[in-house]
Amino acid sequence: MTTIGILGAGQLGRMLALAGYRLGMNFRFFDPAADSSAGQLAPHIAAAYDDWAALEKFAHGLDVVTYEFENIPVETARFLEKFVPVYPPSAALEKSQDRLVEKSFFRSLGVPTPPFAEVNSRADLDNAVRVVGIPSVLKTRRMGYDGKGQVVISAESEVEPAWEKLKGTPLILESFILFDRELSLIGARNQAGHVVFYPLAENTHQDGILRRTVAPAHRRPQTGSLITYRQTSQSLAEVYMRGLMQSLNYVGVLALELFQAGDQLYANEMAPRVHNSGHWTIDGAVTSQFENHVRALAGLPLGSGHPLGVSAMLNLIGKIPDVASILDVDGAHLHVYGKSPRPGRKVGHVTVLAGTHDEIFHKIEELEELVGK
Ligand code: AMP
Repeated sequence: MTTIGILGAGQLGRMLALAGYRLGMNFRFFDPAADSSAGQLAPHIAAAYDDWAALEKFAHGLDVVTYEFENIPVETARFLEKFVPVYPPSAALEKSQDRLVEKSFFRSLGVPTPPFAEVNSRADLDNAVRVVGIPSVLKTRRMGYDGKGQVVISAESEVEPAWEKLKGTPLILESFILFDRELSLIGARNQAGHVVFYPLAENTHQDGILRRTVAPAHRRPQTGSLITYRQTSQSLAEVYMRGLMQSLNYVGVLALELFQAGDQLYANEMAPRVHNSGHWTIDGAVTSQFENHVRALAGLPLGSGHPLGVSAMLNLIGKIPDVASILDVDGAHLHVYGKSPRPGRKVGHVTVLAGTHDEIFHKIEELEELVGK
């Protein structure tokens, strides 16, 4: 029976364990925070990521280690690699932790990105603004997530305030893409090198936090265009992800966040883990992203990522609404993470499955009445 160790004990770890238990797997978590979502399901060692003795104890008896969060120190993954295989490979973790390294990696493999430039000084910023142009986004290279550590520059007069806000840490300036929509591709690769993809998902963010995903992505009729872009975007995104996976000798689930502007796709970032925009797969795909991740870790064949219909996922942020009203919506499923509610905190999500995009947009309206927009 495979025993999987997971670094990070949040909701992603919890959902990995829920998927793996069905396959007879065991789990153990490591997370500095004592009170955790996944710790309600499996043993949880609460220690710092540089507590080598605790890590060694954690590794004892594990078949494989994975992580649910890409800001785990790379040294922690490298240390564990001495005792047990760590997937996805620590090189993927390393690249995804630094926006400059990540975008340079994309570029080296022919994956288009927004134009970008490195910024280490005020003079660099002036140069970067000349090269990249305005509007642009100034971002910290490391430790940014959910829109934190970034400032949009929409006029020359905003350059100085942006610098004042973020200076003191390595930065990157990126061109601000006037995208039509934000998409993500989720794929999985196993130890035999087999790859499966899910359909592109369309994501809506608010204040930098993912609010809603619709999959397969859909161009709504009011934009006036045909949906032929769907197939070409899907194929293009798969080519990009295949390149990334091959180059990293990847094992596990990988998420690639993209901006779509017309026919063009730009890679924003990758997450070497299961991803919030793939939660719909639990109820809406033949095999969920969580199951495919644990299958990949255990050296098992992957399952199809084929959608069962049209899915939507709404994040529950700050509080869990009335459970009975949510479950009263036909096709809706509720997923609660066991976290104490706090403003801005993801505490659960709702998925809903329908036959068509028209139907899914009605269901989203119905659910948004209950969960708020
Ligand atoms: P990130 O932390 O890079 O995922 O950025 C959070 C959100 O900010 C993205 O989901 C986009 O909505 C927006 N954003 C980030 N970078 C850009 C960009 N270069 N152009 C336009 N919007 C962006």
